Amino acid sequence: MTQMYDAIIVGAGISGLGLACRLREKNKNFLILEKSAGVGGRLATRRDQDCTFDHGAQFLKSDPQNRAPWHELINPNELGKSWFSEDGVQQLAFPNGMTSLAKSLANLNEIRLKEKVITITEQNNLCVLEIESGQKYTTRKVYLTAPLPQSLDLLKDSKIAYPQELENIPYASALVGLFRLDSNEKNILDLNYLQNVSPEIFTISNQLSKEVSRNLAFTVVMQPTWSEKYFSEEDSSTLLKISYLFQNFLSQKGGQGTSSILNSQLKKWRYSHPLKIFEDPFKALGSAENIILMGDAFGGASINGALHSAWSVVL
Ligand SMILES: Cc1cc2nc3c(=O)[nH]c(=O)nc-3n(C[C@H](O)[C@H](O)[C@H](O)COP(=O)(O)OP(=O)(O)OC[C@H]3O[C@@H](n4cnc5c(N)ncnc54)[C@H](O)[C@@H]3O)c2cc1C
Repeated sequence: MTQMYDAIIVGAGISGLGLACRLREKNKNFLILEKSAGVGGRLATRRDQDCTFDHGAQFLKSDPQNRAPWHELINPNELGKSWFSEDGVQQLAFPNGMTSLAKSLANLNEIRLKEKVITITEQNNLCVLEIESGQKYTTRKVYLTAPLPQSLDLLKDSKIAYPQELENIPYASALVGLFRLDSNEKNILDLNYLQNVSPEIFTISNQLSKEVSRNLAFTVVMQPTWSEKYFSEEDSSTLLKISYLFQNFLSQKGGQGTSSILNSQLKKWRYSHPLKIFEDPFKALGSAENIILMGDAFGGASINGALHSAWSVVL
């Protein structure tokens, strides 16, 4: 007989992992199905030879006013360090990479990696989830935490109805250049994080000043409109364009010293962050209202927003 779960969470990003903490606390019998080989989703860290890069989210806003319930989970201040502050609010970096924040919430016994959910079938108030290998899981409740357009594709493939207004929540895409740098230029070495750098470059983050990388390395996130325009271009040509724009930035910022790019890589996020947020922090669907849409399109376009959604859903 197949095992019956109280809940299955689709996705091991911060919202799925946060929700898992609540289900664990209530002694629920649950599982997380994650399509990729690791946990964290858009909290992503990549090592390349002697450099390390956060190539998704860069920092956690440590705002006492925010609604994310970190104090009930972990103390992010112990795991992270203050990287810079903006308007008096500390922005925390995680020297072991942003994925370390996700991993601190994860219990690997509850997670099945490389298991992509392809359909959901409703059966007598229960849900049957099928993954790519053909294996099936039966559960009382399903929590969908993928970026909203991906969750909607899954619902369409499953012929499960949802309100049309959810189609009106678009996501930005993000093209990201990862650069290993050699520089003796103080203006470059002293950089932490820059936002809205130019019409093309959205953010620049110094991975060495975050203490994520042992060597000088920068993550360059391109503006949403620029990313959308070049998303389908060949990777090598996109990386050349980003390198050229970053090199221009380095020249403009440079004083007496010199900076040169030693190595570069491209990372592509089809769904980076939602451009609008749904009015409620989650949405229940299905004939038994047991299919729950959640994540950053519901709680807010940030790590804290995703966690807020996880804390708001009804168990
Ligand atoms: C480049 C970039 C920079 C950012 N910078 C910041 C920042 O500095 N600070 C900040 O607070 N936020 C930032 N964000 C936003 C932040 O990362 C997200 O809002 C947050 O991580 C979303 O978490 P989530 O759990 O809702 O979704 P995700 O992290 O996307 O998790 C969803 C998970 O579901 C999995 N999945 C999807 N479909 C399936 C399926 N069919 N079956 C199984 N698994 C599936 C995915 O693999 C993924 O692991 C940034 C995002 C990007 C891309």
